[in-house]
Amino acid sequence: MLSNIRVVLVGTSHPGNIGSTARAMKTMGLSTLYLAEPRAEPDGQSIALAAGASDILKHLVKVDSLAEAIADCSLVIATSARSRTLDWPMLEPREAGQKLVTESLTGPVAIVFGRENHGLSNEELQQCTYHVAIPANPEYSSLNLAQAVQIICYETRVAHLAGVGSAQEPTEYPLAADQERFFVHLENTLFSTGFIIKNHPGQVMTKLRRLFSRARIESQEMNILRGILTSIDKVVSNKQK
Ligand code: SAH
Repeated sequence: MLSNIRVVLVGTSHPGNIGSTARAMKTMGLSTLYLAEPRAEPDGQSIALAAGASDILKHLVKVDSLAEAIADCSLVIATSARSRTLDWPMLEPREAGQKLVTESLTGPVAIVFGRENHGLSNEELQQCTYHVAIPANPEYSSLNLAQAVQIICYETRVAHLAGVGSAQEPTEYPLAADQERFFVHLENTLFSTGFIIKNHPGQVMTKLRRLFSRARIESQEMNILRGILTSIDKVVSNKQK
């Protein structure tokens, strides 16, 4: 099921990195590549560096945002050279490989890579459930983009070869788009109760996103929370009448 593991490159600016990413993926048995808001088109240099993996370039999917690239994924992991900038739930590369393989058995999952010059934005990082930092030299920890892709893809291969997850009863997690809808609903309800002040929202939503990432809530649990929010919405709108 490695085809369910989606590599997402956000804002890539070097066509060579797109080609090298394709090669890194294919050597490890992965094939699904998404470019979110790319700042370069795949070109001759990409094809040269992809070598025998230009079929991945041919089938890549281009989208306008990270949100679009991950909408139908139930697990989204972001990579970051800077560990703990946001203090988000962290995974080791090995654990990331294991989770990606396990959850790819039931549907699409994504591993997200950032821009060559400044990685992923905080907003993008907060759309992902886990962060993974490759434990590199602390004095020089920023790998070349495609080399970072290679390492994570290798970890998925190791997990795949070990048969990770195949004996496990699958858990149903909400898709990224449903999670986003939940956060919008939660924020709107908290506006309507006055818990969040519209012009001074502070860090409440970021903290709540982190809480839900840490809890890794399941689809059924999210449905319960949506029901609770709807019941609050009804009371609030009755009071306003
Ligand atoms: N200067 C950027 C680094 C960008 S490197 C920054 O400070 O964030 C380009 C991308 O390669 C990163 O966004 C990340 O996806 C990946 N990458 C590079 N080094 C990494 C590391 N040590 N661990 C995890 N991902 C890494």
